[in-house]
Amino acid sequence: MSPTRVINVSNRLPLSLGGDGTLRRSSGGLVSALKGVGDAIQLGWIGWPGGGVDDPARRDDVARRMVREFDYHPVFMSDEEVENHYHGFSNSSLWPLLHYNAHYFRYQSAWYDAYKAINARFADAVVAAAREGDRVWVHDYHLMLLPQMLRERRPDLRIGFFLHTPFPSYELFRRHPRRRELLDGVLGADLIGFHTFGYLRHFRSAVLRLTGRESDIYSIRHDDAVTSIGVFPIGINGPGFAAGLESPETAACLERFTNDYAGRRVVLSVERLDYTKGIPQKLEAIEKFLADHPERREDVVFIIIAVPSREDVGEYQDLKEAIELAVSRINGHYATISNIPVHFINRGVKFEELCALYRLADVCMVTPLIDGMNLVAKEYLACQPEGGSGVLILSEFAGAAQELYGTLSVNPYDTDDMAEALHAALTRPEARRRADLAPIRAQVLAHHSGPWAARFLKDLDATARLAVVDAARTLHDTDVQPFTARGPGRKALFLDYDGTLRGFVDDPAQATPEPALRAVLETLSKREDLAVFIVSGRKLAFLREHLGGHGFTLVGEHGYTFMQPGGEPQLLNPEADLTWMPAVKEVLTHYAQTTPGTHVEEKNSALVWHYRRADPEFGRWKALELIGHLDGTTASQPLSVSHGKMIVEVASQQINKGAAVDHFIHQNELAGRGFAATLCVGDDLTDETMFRSRTGAGAVTVRVGPGETDAGFRVSGPARVLEVLEHIAGRG
Ligand code: UDP
Repeated sequence: MSPTRVINVSNRLPLSLGGDGTLRRSSGGLVSALKGVGDAIQLGWIGWPGGGVDDPARRDDVARRMVREFDYHPVFMSDEEVENHYHGFSNSSLWPLLHYNAHYFRYQSAWYDAYKAINARFADAVVAAAREGDRVWVHDYHLMLLPQMLRERRPDLRIGFFLHTPFPSYELFRRHPRRRELLDGVLGADLIGFHTFGYLRHFRSAVLRLTGRESDIYSIRHDDAVTSIGVFPIGINGPGFAAGLESPETAACLERFTNDYAGRRVVLSVERLDYTKGIPQKLEAIEKFLADHPERREDVVFIIIAVPSREDVGEYQDLKEAIELAVSRINGHYATISNIPVHFINRGVKFEELCALYRLADVCMVTPLIDGMNLVAKEYLACQPEGGSGVLILSEFAGAAQELYGTLSVNPYDTDDMAEALHAALTRPEARRRADLAPIRAQVLAHHSGPWAARFLKDLDATARLAVVDAARTLHDTDVQPFTARGPGRKALFLDYDGTLRGFVDDPAQATPEPALRAVLETLSKREDLAVFIVSGRKLAFLREHLGGHGFTLVGEHGYTFMQPGGEPQLLNPEADLTWMPAVKEVLTHYAQTTPGTHVEEKNSALVWHYRRADPEFGRWKALELIGHLDGTTASQPLSVSHGKMIVEVASQQINKGAAVDHFIHQNELAGRGFAATLCVGDDLTDETMFRSRTGAGAVTVRVGPGETDAGFRVSGPARVLEVLEHIAGRG
């Protein structure tokens, strides 16, 4: 069997382009993650190769070579596009909000235009590269519109999306002017992954509030499909670090550093110079620690590696200055003749140096204010020797804190807490340190990025987005053959009006039958073998005025009233027991009073509690409570309780559209004029009672539009209903 092809899509392609035109694949975490899945997948990649290829002829040449040599497909961007898409929209609007930093949030509509255009360019590249049935894995916040763009153009592809950052509370996310477009974009995926359950929980809440889509912890429901969601905490590049630790270069670095820092305890921190990493707060804690523990000024050294990041952004420049100021203040104050406490290194270090430092450090201080995962924490644990005694001080706001029990957990906003943690880490007995480290080190080594990618792709395979939540099939003309003139016996058509025969308009009074509908109804009315029933929620007066001339039976108010052709309005079931209504109304009114944004609608034989305008989570919670309450208190009453779209409806069991259908079928049977075939067509919750009525297995039941249904068939909308009726009438 040939391996399945996975097309990985990330903002950057994992390669570097030499000035002399050489291409070199780089070995980032994602590359090793996908390599770790093994030979079972064939890997393609789509991304920006970085700047530096301006000449179009050279670009084409580079692109061809990337495709040929690696199955990498470059998406080029101009400097202006990089500015607006990457620095602007991605890093100055999305990054701050995703990291709870409303203060640094900036927005310009031109950034969004560029973001959309670049996402569309990525979509072009995927569409061009993807073969039928490929799996596409989109990464991170630079490409949030891409999944839906792909879904529209290539429904054959399996699309995964993984967010490498946190997903914040709705209260933060809602500030983004393009919040709805961003969510709709991501929801085009079959599977969406997050590092922690907390991010998933916030995402669900934002989806409910901004799109109205309900979900559970595994999936988000669309009208006719589901998107799966899941928690997949990323691991480190396990094989990469294992090889790094084995290398002679690392051994040489380790020997050098061991000599350099002989007799001193090393506290390491490694991070990009980013405001999410909490470097000023960490320095404050170090300052406090040195003030509180003069005895440590000689024998502790803090190595702070701050890798430059987004250096042309003003906020990052200010942050760097503030850090440099704090470092020189601390060193000025606490340096001794033989020790300078803070070694601040504002650049990246070589991989082998990093491995050696991770192995050497007595303590690693990972104290971000917020971080999607934080790989440094895991890398430190993995690089400690077996039986080692390193201590990890870990911010409770790093995603990694959700998995790593046994670290020294700190609140980075609490200077005293962090200073005390430093003291504890440096004074903790060695046996305790060894015992704490062993299990979390083993865990990090086992859950490295290879198994992470394998699990995501396995779950992506297992998702079935188009597994519609019911079994309704698309209705074809052949399915209504029994109702055409050639079909034997008398036939009945039970047709809903609004949303079925006529599309919705803002003013219901204007929703009168259009000429094409009138024409087909007129043709149907001439058929001796057909009995047509219009079964509507409308009042009979409206039905009589607009649909009265065809000799049809008109059923109004969801089966409460009806009119035979030429007859007078009558109650369908005068005996129906409606004595439950006042008590139920009292309950519903109580819920309306205690749930802001809800109200009660009174119908002749039903009461409806609407919660569309309530807080969606509170509304849903109260709806479930209300249903539980009614189930417990009205079990013996002749009523039915149903949970529709943002409504709870309590309706008479004896009066509903389904009961009306049963009534007319029964009457005709009694009169010896039973129907050989029955067709029921409708679009909403009230029509579901028709689909469930005892019309028997022979009935053809048709749901118009999306949504869960008990009908056997589905059509897209009123226009298709018209075509079906034209086919029945012999006009199609
Ligand atoms: N790292 C690096 N060069 C350095 C120092 C660190 O490439 O000089 C790597 C480090 O090994 C880690 C990554 O940068 O894999 C930082 O990842 P993390 O999840 O901690 O933070 P992020 O930068 O993604 O916010």
